[in-house]
Amino acid sequence: METTLRGVGVSHGVAIGEVRHMGTAVLEPPAKQIPAEDAEREQGRARKAVEAVAADLTARGNLAGGEAQAVLEAQAMMAQDPELLVDVERRIAVGSTAERAVYDAFAAYRELLANAGEYLAGRVADLDDVRNRIVARLLGVPMPGVPDSDEPYVLVARDLAPADTALLDPTLVLGFVTEEGGPTSHSAILARALGVPAVVALPGASELAEGTLIAVDGSTGEVFLNPSEEKKAQLEAASAERRAALAASTGPGATADGHTVPLLANIGGPADVAAAVEAGAEGVGLFRTEFLFLDDSKNAPSEEKQITAYRQVLEAFPEGRVVVRVLDAGADKPLDFLTPADEPNPALGVRGLRTLLDHPAVLRTQLTALAKAAEGLPVHLEVMAPMVADRADARAFAEACREAGLRAKFGAMVEIPSAALRARSVLREVEFLSLGTNDLAQYTFAADRQVGAVSRLQDPWQPALLDLVALSAEAAKAEGKSCGVCGEAASDPLLACVLTGLGVTSLSMGAASIPYVRASLAKFTLAQCERAAAAARAADSAEDARAAAQAVLSGE
Ligand code: PEP
Ligand code: MG
Repeated sequence: METTLRGVGVSHGVAIGEVRHMGTAVLEPPAKQIPAEDAEREQGRARKAVEAVAADLTARGNLAGGEAQAVLEAQAMMAQDPELLVDVERRIAVGSTAERAVYDAFAAYRELLANAGEYLAGRVADLDDVRNRIVARLLGVPMPGVPDSDEPYVLVARDLAPADTALLDPTLVLGFVTEEGGPTSHSAILARALGVPAVVALPGASELAEGTLIAVDGSTGEVFLNPSEEKKAQLEAASAERRAALAASTGPGATADGHTVPLLANIGGPADVAAAVEAGAEGVGLFRTEFLFLDDSKNAPSEEKQITAYRQVLEAFPEGRVVVRVLDAGADKPLDFLTPADEPNPALGVRGLRTLLDHPAVLRTQLTALAKAAEGLPVHLEVMAPMVADRADARAFAEACREAGLRAKFGAMVEIPSAALRARSVLREVEFLSLGTNDLAQYTFAADRQVGAVSRLQDPWQPALLDLVALSAEAAKAEGKSCGVCGEAASDPLLACVLTGLGVTSLSMGAASIPYVRASLAKFTLAQCERAAAAARAADSAEDARAAAQAVLSGE
């Protein structure tokens, strides 16, 4: 039977495919006793599961090649460690189930490793992954992590963290549905980066049965379970119509009366460049460099590796503007070697620029790599720091850039309300501002961006957020400097007009949103955008702000 569920649409388009769940951490199997006559069968099950997991890890290694292959092969060997197997069989012989025996044997081995010096302690996470795989196979539940599927699927998860998704094969993911998350969560950002439809904050998403056919409409937030042939055809036709209308809009971003608003792309690395160029991005407004650091959570990437990645991006926009954000680690993007493990409130702790000021060598390497990557290229390089709180932060960052000999514009992201409130003071130290509206909303409304239950407060249409945008844009104008938006607010076609009316000077977003925003801006004059912005700011809720702007722009 066809059922319709409703969440928050965060990435346009329609995806139709089968549900595959992101496997979650394996629960502890119950410690129940088995009769002695079952022991042999249980031992056989355990041996088979171990062999299957080892074979799967080896096969994945062969496919991946390079460093990943070495890690996966080491994991395959861990799975087949003879001493571990003896321990598993011994535990089964005295009454454990196969899954419980594996769980307990690995726990004992884990303790040995954890206490055996830094190198071996670093392998604990790999060991846990092997254990989870074997236990999942024995319990018949999905493997932890990205689904093992050769067929395209709709990925369903509670929420997605950048580390979870590093291994996603974009050719297999038709769309995303998550139970948690809001419009600014990483699931939403990743979906836009991949250009796949996505719906977040969908109640009951985790309970959708594996393999159910669903249709996801990322524009309306609707998810149809077991859609009829008629519904599928209707959704596909509407989506094709929207795509055709968009293909007609090309060229630089501008309002109907020619006020230019450069449309830039948010990227996570060289792999996103092609889509940005194809969408007609006029440059990069946010290069989230932390994705380079996620491959190895224990060490920073070498200067050479960074130079190569930065250069690939810079070369793609020969005369364009490329805004690189230095590493934004911590909170929802923790890195083992940088992020304190024991913070009670990581989002309010040492993250973003604070982390880098505590680890100056990491910042220095990154800035030096950027300086070297840009050498001899005509690109307009701009470098900005995340989570700048005040003038002292801005000064410390600008000094680090100067010390590294970086020939670029230095800027500050406005993600903390204090930076917006005192934007003129921050601008004494840097040459531009870039509004990170995702975190700015999180900190303005005290609403964790990863928690679906508070997604109402992460709505970038909230008038209080618009006030902070206006304050920042006015300060930049008074100082003769620029103020862009690189948070997800920029990707909402209607809000993009309001932001333009508030005085922001560029808009940066996932490549897939650029055509939608370009087409929307081109329909209105700057004066109309300004009137829509004033109407939105005069409202008392996000909903009313959106309706007020819509009314102005549709001439009601
Ligand atoms: C933001 O916070 O708006 C932003 C652009 O940074 P990120 O989403 O990477 O935290
Ligand atoms: Mg941010």
